[in-house]
Amino acid sequence: MDPNILHNIGYGMYIAASHKGDVLNGQIVNTVFQITSEPVTIAVSINKKNLTHEFIESSSCFSLSILLEDTPLSFIGRFGFKSGREGNKFKGIKFERLASGCPVVSNYSIGYLEAKVVNKVDCGTHTLFIGEMTDSKILKTGRPMTYDYYHQVKRGTTPKTAPTFIKGEEGTAAKDARMKKYRCTVCNYIYDPAIGDPDRGIQPDTAFEGLPEGWVCPVCGADKSQFTKEP
Ligand code: FE
Repeated sequence: MDPNILHNIGYGMYIAASHKGDVLNGQIVNTVFQITSEPVTIAVSINKKNLTHEFIESSSCFSLSILLEDTPLSFIGRFGFKSGREGNKFKGIKFERLASGCPVVSNYSIGYLEAKVVNKVDCGTHTLFIGEMTDSKILKTGRPMTYDYYHQVKRGTTPKTAPTFIKGEEGTAAKDARMKKYRCTVCNYIYDPAIGDPDRGIQPDTAFEGLPEGWVCPVCGADKSQFTKEP
């Protein structure tokens, strides 16, 4: 078997969110798909260890915000590489709460949909929640971010809890960089000097050693001391 075949399955990039009373949580998901059109049902796969899983179980509803291509890595990192158990991910960002109580993000979102859970499938490490759409809205025009775009253009990485994580997978970075690449030991993001960190104005051809003091991993926020030089 060649697990690389799985990289050729297409996905999007979304924030799945839910609530438990007044406590909100959301996370990055890529495994979202429409199942039927009458009524509209949508499926999303969520790791059982994640707080969002607990909240969807508790509220029986979830929202999906569809992310734009220009969503910064730091925004994806906030929802994708941090746990809601350590802090409120919605603190300090613009969001709205829908009739179900589920939050949706206002920035970097093409629009959202809300669903009530009508079925679920136990898939071992993950639960596949199937929801009937109860609300939806388009907020902006733009291109939705695909999972491939996130990896190939944004140079994002995948946490171990994602359904599509492949052991040994790491951030994709240009193969023939003249300066050394550095890997974030927290989230596996690779700083590639050939690319820099365009979201934050770091130009291509900036060595890791030349990054300003206070520069942090664009994905998870770890500081420079948590990076190791790639062989
Ligand atoms: Fe990181």
